[in-house]
Amino acid sequence: GELGPEQQGLIIAHYGQQLDVEALEGEHQGQVVRCFVRANIDSLVTGDKVIWRPGKSETGVIVARCDRTNLLQRPDNFGALKPVAANIDHIILVIASEPEPHDNLIDRYLVAAESTDIPVVILLNKTDLLTDQNRQDIDELLARYEALGYQVVRTSATASGSTPSPQVEALVRDQTSVFVGQSGVGKSSIIQTLLPDESLRVGALSESTGKGTHTTTTAKLFHLAIGGDLIDSPGIREFGLWHMTPQEIEYGFREIRDLIGHCRFRNCRHLGDPGCAIDVAAEDGRISYPRLKSFHRILKDMAEQQSRGLKLD
Ligand code: GDP
Ligand code: ZN
Repeated sequence: GELGPEQQGLIIAHYGQQLDVEALEGEHQGQVVRCFVRANIDSLVTGDKVIWRPGKSETGVIVARCDRTNLLQRPDNFGALKPVAANIDHIILVIASEPEPHDNLIDRYLVAAESTDIPVVILLNKTDLLTDQNRQDIDELLARYEALGYQVVRTSATASGSTPSPQVEALVRDQTSVFVGQSGVGKSSIIQTLLPDESLRVGALSESTGKGTHTTTTAKLFHLAIGGDLIDSPGIREFGLWHMTPQEIEYGFREIRDLIGHCRFRNCRHLGDPGCAIDVAAEDGRISYPRLKSFHRILKDMAEQQSRGLKLD
């Protein structure tokens, strides 16, 4: 059939063979058009910029994918990496005093983030719940990550009512963000302050099909009223909670990656082996003991998981 001129678009959602493309220019600018994909284009994901051509009755055809700055991937049930979202400015790792953050879990998210080369920001939520008892522990924990070069931001999603807190606003404005972190830390609450429109809420991350409505695992892109975009899906929120190889774990600890290859034994497992360069660095104070412990724990957990042939998700 007849197709209109080639133009730029942004993928905001993905449904099997069809994608929702927002027109970024031309007479359709700002409109969302349901598009099909030319067979010769490899997998497209939410956040991808594309070249598309309008067709008949509000549909279109995607003819090319523009270059990506980065790609968030997750393993499928067989361990093969599948692209999920593209062109992300930063991963916002949300933690809170309640549920209490375990170093191990924070480090698992950080290891996964390091392997994507997407910057990660640690966002402490629920600062209103800090007490004289837990404040010192949280401050010490955050100081360790700041010393490693991670940006740390503190906020309270509930203290600012239904509007975003100034700290969150400054963080996400004009950026493409994804929020990750364990259940209960306040991701939905923060996102609701950013997306007050009922229809855009994450609770509305569901897809109508002939068989009724079910939660979709596809990532969706939302425009923020204050400027910037948010990409969200249940799968993205669980980012990083899957099997990791020893190489990914070694690379994922910033202060450890350069020490690999400097151990006494070439086949060092870095689990207390004699002459392990990582243990030496911890003794010298170049690696903090909580991070060393966490590194050992993740290596052991992953080896055990591997031997059982199980995945966490
Ligand atoms: P999610 O699982 O990470 O999406 O967390 P939710 O947004 O569902 O929040 C879990 C609970 O923490 C809910 O009861 C929220 O009302 C509460 N909560 C979220 N943010 C804050 C906060 O800044 N302060 C306090 N006191 N509670 C919060
Ligand atoms: Zn070693």
